[in-house]
Amino acid sequence: MNETCDIAIVGGGAAGLMAAIAAAEGRTAKIAIIERMDRCGSKILISGGGRCNLSNRSLSANDYFGGSRNFIRNVLASFGTKDTIRFFESLGVEITEEDEGRLFPRKGAHHLLAALLGRVGELGVQLVTGFFVEHITFTNGIYKIHGRSKSLSASRVVLACGGSACPACGTDGSGFALAASLGHSIIAPTPALVPIELNEPDLRKLAGITIDAELVLRAGDVETANSRGSMLFTHGGISGPAALNISRHIARSEAANPTLLLNSLPGRTLETLSREIREWMRLHPKAEIITSFKKILPERFCTAVFRREGIDASKRLSNLSRDDIKNTASAFTELSLSVKGVGEFKSAHATAGGVALTEVRYQTMESRISRGLYLAGEVLDVDGMTGGYNFQWAWSTGFIAGRASSAVFKKKC
Ligand SMILES: Cc1cc2nc3c(=O)[nH]c(=O)nc-3n(C[C@H](O)[C@H](O)[C@H](O)COP(=O)(O)OP(=O)(O)OC[C@H]3O[C@@H](n4cnc5c(N)ncnc54)[C@H](O)[C@@H]3O)c2cc1C
Repeated sequence: MNETCDIAIVGGGAAGLMAAIAAAEGRTAKIAIIERMDRCGSKILISGGGRCNLSNRSLSANDYFGGSRNFIRNVLASFGTKDTIRFFESLGVEITEEDEGRLFPRKGAHHLLAALLGRVGELGVQLVTGFFVEHITFTNGIYKIHGRSKSLSASRVVLACGGSACPACGTDGSGFALAASLGHSIIAPTPALVPIELNEPDLRKLAGITIDAELVLRAGDVETANSRGSMLFTHGGISGPAALNISRHIARSEAANPTLLLNSLPGRTLETLSREIREWMRLHPKAEIITSFKKILPERFCTAVFRREGIDASKRLSNLSRDDIKNTASAFTELSLSVKGVGEFKSAHATAGGVALTEVRYQTMESRISRGLYLAGEVLDVDGMTGGYNFQWAWSTGFIAGRASSAVFKKKC
């Protein structure tokens, strides 16, 4: 194959499919999606456990990290949650809302992907699968996209290759190399939304237990990040939204030994829990201290915390000293966890880092470095929290890039 098209979209994931539709709607441009895997959208299918948390009712730039918040805010203002809902409903995808504003396609990820691919087909976009883009050159206003045995030329390219998370889905970071070869600066990629590994052998036996938690990351005495939500103990550490959302800060921390403080009773502080324990002492002086904690937290977790902190869990409340109260309240509101690190890209849901936003125009997603090159999705230096924010970023940037890349081509009659 040595073909020519008007717009080549490299990467057939969420951002690439959205870009193709946005580019093709209303314009006559010849568009091709180039995807290395045998099929497009493999990450959409496995996302949210096959349910695809596609966006969130509550959306703001504060749900994202990476490059300039202003850039992110402008992108979300151009194409936000309401636009996403309207777009998918126009494709016949019914959307349901769950807790914390999370939005899902009612009939699951398969249905959403089928609707995207159906629209791509209707619009006459060419799908070229099994084509791994090795490098891209730009001469005399034309991009040449090279694979091992084929190449394709286009006057416009949308780079939507994703990041490095979940390489089994086709995303091994090659998009960063392609962007760099065209002159872009890459902010060093690290795993995001990834389980945290702990040096806490005593907590290993808690694998499978979920608690509500607040996590605070500290470098020395300075709090550098915090997160709140459900948290799952795993064999090697912690996962679940509270842990996943803070993991990118650990991965990017420059501190030699960052400390993670766990509050297993969010909303309570050392002071308020100390007061509560005193109240329990007054009401149930003969009860063992663990009896009161078992009422508000899983028993296995309480036992492990008391043992780890060397506090006698069977001590009667009436026998607690002032230090016992303080140590117990501290163990449940600011338990210091020893952090080993975070998981690898293969267990990450997103990538922090990527193409520097300073080199991209937010109005069009066009590169400031290479004319006619557009960037969309996770390849950019933006990563969102759990809750549908990463897909929303892919839809928003994919839409803007698609629309802008086709603007010079003739309108369809
Ligand atoms: C297990 C898992 C679950 C997730 N669940 C959710 C969720 O519920 N909600 C949410 O908001 N986010 C979720 N995410 C994150 C979300 O899937 C991504 O942020 C989003 O898919 C990024 O879209 P993208 O189009 O930029 O990249 P991708 O969807 O990763 O697509 C990039 C495409 O480019 C192709 N490609 C890469 N390099 C090349 C190359 N050199 N040549 C040709 N093709 C190439 C890849 O094969 C891939 O198909 C999840 C991620 C994972 C791993």
